[in-house]
Amino acid sequence: MVTATVPENQVKIGPTKLLINNEWVESVSGQRFETINPATGEAICDVAEADAPDVEKAVQAARNAFNSGEWRKMSATRRGELLYKLADLIEHNIDELARLETLDNGKPLHDSYGDIRLVIACYRYYAGWADKVQGKTIPINGPYFCYTRHEPVGVVGQIIPWNFPLLMQAWKLSPALATGNTVVLKTAEQTPLSALRIGELIIEAGFPPGVVNILSGYGPTAGAAIARHMDIDKVAFTGSTEVGHLVMEAAAKSNLKRVTLELGGKSPNIVFADADMDQAIVGAHHSLFFNQGQCCNAGSRLFVEEKCYDEFVAKSVERAKQRVVGDPFDPNTQQGPQVDQDQFNKVMSYIESGMRDGAQMLCGGHRVGDRGFFIEPTVFANVSNDMKIAQEEIFGPVMSIIKFKDIDEAIHLANSTMYGLAAGVWTKDITKAHAIANNVRAGTVWVNCYHVFDAAAPFGGFKQSGMGRELGEYCLEHYTEVKTVTIKL
Ligand code: ADP
Repeated sequence: MVTATVPENQVKIGPTKLLINNEWVESVSGQRFETINPATGEAICDVAEADAPDVEKAVQAARNAFNSGEWRKMSATRRGELLYKLADLIEHNIDELARLETLDNGKPLHDSYGDIRLVIACYRYYAGWADKVQGKTIPINGPYFCYTRHEPVGVVGQIIPWNFPLLMQAWKLSPALATGNTVVLKTAEQTPLSALRIGELIIEAGFPPGVVNILSGYGPTAGAAIARHMDIDKVAFTGSTEVGHLVMEAAAKSNLKRVTLELGGKSPNIVFADADMDQAIVGAHHSLFFNQGQCCNAGSRLFVEEKCYDEFVAKSVERAKQRVVGDPFDPNTQQGPQVDQDQFNKVMSYIESGMRDGAQMLCGGHRVGDRGFFIEPTVFANVSNDMKIAQEEIFGPVMSIIKFKDIDEAIHLANSTMYGLAAGVWTKDITKAHAIANNVRAGTVWVNCYHVFDAAAPFGGFKQSGMGRELGEYCLEHYTEVKTVTIKL
């Protein structure tokens, strides 16, 4: 039984309008929509609802700021200073932001703190890059001086999901701003609040009008208007693979805007019998259950070597049973609610599908409490890689354990998916670790660890998990155009 005693009155709700040109405005239609507290199922407040006309206004503001504003003339060093200032303001307001994130998203409060520490690091990392993005001089044939400039792409549309609202905002805004772009960012309809509070801090930091515009709204309306807009030069999207296809299609049919996508995953996490078992059990648990299982890179296909399978399954079930589910504001809570009713229903239907397909459910499977969207940590054993629960993204606290015989079978099964976002491997044998790292087709491979993120380390997908990379130096190329200048000597 969950008694979610969320101290809403202790959480300061920030702005609930749209941020366009450094002003807080209602939507053109005057429409607003409710955002729900997932721990109770009740509305927290309503926020302005952007649609195509609001996207239009925001794009115009971003275009003006890009073409003629103070931003365009600003030195790269000064852009970096503004990003450092924003990081400082976020750090200064970390308690308030963490509470707001937990209220709107449902993640345990200490996880919100963890996210925000990464947010701050991300802004500082790209602040450092602002004045270090540079071209080359190129020795071409003939009496010419040839060099390249790395210029901002222009107006960037950014569409983010609800699982890490603040972190995804930082991953998107910080490289775009460091390289001198202007932005129209749409948050996920489930979690609009924390991003709007960052909007206030962006103004306070001193970013000029129109550089960052933040819209709350739904995907098929405001999101689609961004994807098809003729005056947006690039769209960066994080969300489902299904919507990734739509965003790319809209970009192709409109103005061939540049597209980067960070999409779904069904990441293999491979445990060999020679691994440190205790470490692997804790790691596999964390890889799947962290953030209520709502991670695109969750270790959602857990492959365990035959020799240690029974022991591993038994210990994983024990651990899952001990996981503390409940009020996300309680410091002892390890798992909060799923983000909304739709996600709750989707996860429950995958649990039913696992049982129908003959997987063995060893714990969990039920709702927790009678309000909010809490689900018991659930473990399925005897899963085969072709079952629906092993092929489709569940995005919930449902662990699927699959047996394998040897390394060749592990690699084959790991790659038998349309996704390629991340992978994990647990072994003391360095040769096996390298064989997995080299042969599994995924954008990130973690060895004897999982969910290790750093602003400097690139992240993104192979195959249908996306295109392009976020974070690190690699991300900068997606926010810049290369211009070649050739001068006759
Ligand atoms: P999820 O299934 O995890 O909610 P989605 O891919 O539906 O993931 O949502 C991620 C983001 O994409 C959200 O901001 C959502 O509003 C947006 N979105 C959804 N549908 C579309 C669409 N047709 N065009 C553009 N953005 C969309």
